[in-house]
Amino acid sequence: MIKKASFLISNTDYRKCPSPTKPEFAFIGRSNVGKSSLVNMLTNNKNLAKTSGKPGKTQLINHFLIDDNWYMVDLPGYGFAKVSKSIKSTWEKMISDYLKNRDNLVAVAVLVDSRLDPQKIDIEFITWCGNNEIPFFLIFTKSDKQGKSKTQSNVQKFLQESIEIFGEEPQYFITSAQTGEGKEELIAFIENEVQD
Ligand code: GDP
Repeated sequence: MIKKASFLISNTDYRKCPSPTKPEFAFIGRSNVGKSSLVNMLTNNKNLAKTSGKPGKTQLINHFLIDDNWYMVDLPGYGFAKVSKSIKSTWEKMISDYLKNRDNLVAVAVLVDSRLDPQKIDIEFITWCGNNEIPFFLIFTKSDKQGKSKTQSNVQKFLQESIEIFGEEPQYFITSAQTGEGKEELIAFIENEVQD
């Protein structure tokens, strides 16, 4: 269980992020995938990450300190339609520089909407992670939105595509910010990695 979580700082440049002395997990996904809700669920704090109806609003690398032990990073969402090309390329450079250069990054959690068939942009992103040797795992969000079998079938489709790319099944979790599904399992996984 997470006992303590506090917001530290927002940056546009990984070099200005807190000194890389603690293990770090970054969370990313398409806008509206439920990332803020997940961060708030994990930290038992309704307001830590700003949930908003405006996709793509947060364009910053947001650091949170968890239990004085590790950093949780809320990265801006990708895949929002209404931004200009120049905003998109600024975003891509910020995120790719951060992911490639952040020395204490243990893994990036890629959030995927469990209601949808595999989305091209998510597949492209994990492929990019693979090509750049950035460890990632998957979090299928909003599992409460449909029946278990629908979730399972979407998850399996995504895993199948991942296996075709990587030759193996990535680590994954199924979560709901509404019901708390997957919360303890995900925290246990991260805490275990932090201790290693
Ligand atoms: P973000 O843009 O990825 O940070 O997404 P938000 O956390 O702001 O969530 C986007 C919308 O989905 C909001 O209306 C949330 O209330 C809703 N949402 C997020 N997670 C869940 C979930 O697990 N279950 C349900 N039913 N709705 C969710």
